[in-house]
Amino acid sequence: MEKTARKIQMVDLKTQYEKIKTEVDTAISNVINNTAFINGPEVKAFQADLEKYLSVKHVIPCANGTDALQIAMMALDLKPGDEVITANFTYVATAEVIALLKLTPVLVECNPDTFTIDPAAIEKAITPKTKAIVSVHLYGQCADMDKIMDIAKKHNLYVIEDVAQAIGAEYTSADGKTHKGGTIGTVGCTSFFPSKNLGCYGDGGALYTNDDKLAARIRMIANHGQSVQYIHDDIGVNSRLDSLQAAVLRIKLKQLDSYATARNNAAAYYDKAFANNPKIKTPARAKNSTHVFHQYTLVLNGVDRNKLREHLATKDIPAMIYYPLPLHHQKAYHNPLFKDENFPITIHLCKNVISLPMHTELDESTLKYITDSVLEFVN
Ligand SMILES: *Cc1c(COP(=O)(O)O)cnc(C)c1O
Repeated sequence: MEKTARKIQMVDLKTQYEKIKTEVDTAISNVINNTAFINGPEVKAFQADLEKYLSVKHVIPCANGTDALQIAMMALDLKPGDEVITANFTYVATAEVIALLKLTPVLVECNPDTFTIDPAAIEKAITPKTKAIVSVHLYGQCADMDKIMDIAKKHNLYVIEDVAQAIGAEYTSADGKTHKGGTIGTVGCTSFFPSKNLGCYGDGGALYTNDDKLAARIRMIANHGQSVQYIHDDIGVNSRLDSLQAAVLRIKLKQLDSYATARNNAAAYYDKAFANNPKIKTPARAKNSTHVFHQYTLVLNGVDRNKLREHLATKDIPAMIYYPLPLHHQKAYHNPLFKDENFPITIHLCKNVISLPMHTELDESTLKYITDSVLEFVN
């Protein structure tokens, strides 16, 4: 087997940059020349571009995805002791901000095929203290939003969509209408961390909402709780998107749909290579959502995952485990109320998932090299 020239990475930002280098370098040097580093025209222009792309009334940029989640919960006036239901199988940020605000994270199971939060498990976890649901659109496709919105309406709950991994994914509701993930619930929260599907060259994030009043409150909270300069009606935070990052994001937003196509093409190659292999379960597509493949994640069946990773490493192929532990096994989120017997799916996934390189620059020879190397070990 031939090894490809450039080292294989989980995410190849360098090759991607080389294709937009002239435009990016010019935009960055323009920001520096204008010295409008904070809240400059690039930030406002990016906000408008993203509102248009998402067909949402308000985009409020902020410093990162974790801040976006925190600001959303502050803006919704969630109070200590309020319960917030979210997935046990997710990145820590989701539960972290809940706990940080002294709200109570209530962790629930996910769907074993799509990996997203299970609506039936949400409904079972509702108590009189429940105030909000955080639906995580894990790995790049939307959770079952029709069901989640029905549950939220029935019990009068807010829905915060954590769309950090799924920007651009589109959800089709039962009424046939399509919406971009993050614009369906009360508020959407996303991240522009470099390796995310729309990544900047540092940290960045945003909130989206169609609610005018909530948007104004989010803006105020992200800006030290002030609506008029030096008048602070609320305790806020300082969370801004840099003008430099906004300039990069404007350029990459124009590519986002073609980036999603490239990711889907890579996913289709992987799917085909691993089809009908009893030891490898390829990722299922949710019924009502497109997939933007932030991650391409397999579930192994009777394969020694560590040894597979070691085998791939000897061939210079990286592979990652998202996520190795359920949140309730993390010391910080341990709670005797969360029992292993209630999380068989999450625990199984944490032990058996493996994510392969997934980005916009994977060519066929690289994909062949990766899939051949996986199959060589598995078969
Ligand atoms: C990346 C991520 C976040 C946090 O975003 P940051 O910009 O790194 O703070 C939150 N939730 C999920 C699901 C993520 O993948």
